Amino acid sequence: MANAPDPTTRIDVIFSAAEIAARIKVLAGEVAARAPHDLLVVPILKGSFIFAGDLVRALHHADLTPEIDFLTLASYGDATFSSGEVRVTRDITSEIAGRDVLIVDDILETGRTLAHAKALVLDRGATSAMTCVLLDKPVPRAGEINADFKAFDCPEVFVVGYGMDLANRYRELPFVGNLITDN
Ligand code: 5GP
Ligand code: MG
Repeated sequence: MANAPDPTTRIDVIFSAAEIAARIKVLAGEVAARAPHDLLVVPILKGSFIFAGDLVRALHHADLTPEIDFLTLASYGDATFSSGEVRVTRDITSEIAGRDVLIVDDILETGRTLAHAKALVLDRGATSAMTCVLLDKPVPRAGEINADFKAFDCPEVFVVGYGMDLANRYRELPFVGNLITDN
């Protein structure tokens, strides 16, 4: 259990900083084994920023030299339930055509977010659009979408930390935790 600023909430650790670091090293090796050409890494903001930061440094240690550009996607709905409509609020500015792209996101749930990002880069002529997520939740997908690389299967609970938020809080936690509110 970690400190939460609000006494009516607690955060139980699901994946520790050490577990995450060890797993990312393995993932980077798996990405490198694909020998991507002219790799562009596209973290989906904001939730994946810490994961992507650690992942690209692990890619460096796996001898890859990716370029990095960001895509900010938002889905309408409240903090814990997404409505299904995804829109771009900050677009990629890099050239995409002819490149292998690795889309990085925090959580794969219905898959709408990842499907939107994948369609966007393929539409702009990417040679391939691989997907890499920190967490995969066992919920029904909205369509045919899966992660090519994933760090962990995640229980169906609301998670925060390691970049992930509730109303922009808790992103700084170095681990992934389950936010529990007693009331
Ligand atoms: P999808 O589009 O796959 O249904 O939803 C994935 C997105 O929903 C994630 O990128 C994340 O922003 C958000 N999300 C889903 N589950 C959680 C959760 O447990 N905690 C947080 N903080 N965000 C979540
Ligand atoms: Mg997200």
